[in-house]
Amino acid sequence: MPLVNLKPVLAEAKSKGYAVAAFNPLDYASMKAMVAAAEELNAPVIIQTSAKTINYYGHRALVEWMREIAADSPIPAVLHLDHGKDFDMIRKCIEMGWTSVMIDASDHPFEKNLELSRKVVDLATAANVGVEAEIGQILGVEDDMVVTEEESHLTDPNEAEKFCRELDLSAFAAAIGTAHGYYKGEPKVAFELIEEINRRTNTPMALHGGTGLSDEVIQRCIKLGCAKINISTNLKHVFIDSFVNYHREKPSDYEPLRVLGAQFQAMKDLFKSKIEQFGGANRAGDVLSKVA
Ligand SMILES: [Zn+2]
Repeated sequence: MPLVNLKPVLAEAKSKGYAVAAFNPLDYASMKAMVAAAEELNAPVIIQTSAKTINYYGHRALVEWMREIAADSPIPAVLHLDHGKDFDMIRKCIEMGWTSVMIDASDHPFEKNLELSRKVVDLATAANVGVEAEIGQILGVEDDMVVTEEESHLTDPNEAEKFCRELDLSAFAAAIGTAHGYYKGEPKVAFELIEEINRRTNTPMALHGGTGLSDEVIQRCIKLGCAKINISTNLKHVFIDSFVNYHREKPSDYEPLRVLGAQFQAMKDLFKSKIEQFGGANRAGDVLSKVA
């Protein structure tokens, strides 16, 4: 089926108390493995491209791959831009067929962030494209942007309420103590803050830095209103390790398609485990009735 807008997908997830898994693809095969995993579990899925990936392949290749993969599948899939910082890149995504974009102006002061985010919401909404926006800077490395401990700050719930009242968002990303990349110690997730932000914004929350959170933390976040969970670092490791391990185990096998097949299987297994963990299995039908 055609790619779907993020908004009804997350509204449905929030109302039913589960989260939709969002993965950052690295190539055509990883996109295909995301949709294959979702299809086997009859689940909705979000495929989110980083700016770095778009710069590498170009908008056209990514959107055409994704359109073809989605068209061959009965499950609802969203093509989303992760951490959009450049307005021209965001506009091009909207024009070329992404069904959701993230504007990340979180490094600007509140009023400027609101102004920049509003510009994207206006453009996207007119094109039936969903929008995720962020307040507070999430710790860690995303693409080549580094947010250090001193720079990162938790989202102010008063600002969150005002932001979400002014903007009709599909997803709201907040800094609530999680971080991009692998965690060095136990992350200090601010559960009370998640609860307060969700109560006051009533907007599906996007949880960034999902790799490495314990199942207990994940389940608590979902219960408190996180409806989109991002997994990127996990995939980077599986992508490379599965390839390297295959060759280590079978050093004389130079049939590339067998190596790629092993990598595909490993990626699909990761995606299936995350979709199931977040409660997305067997939700495709209900989502489809909302996006139709
Ligand atoms: Zn992020």
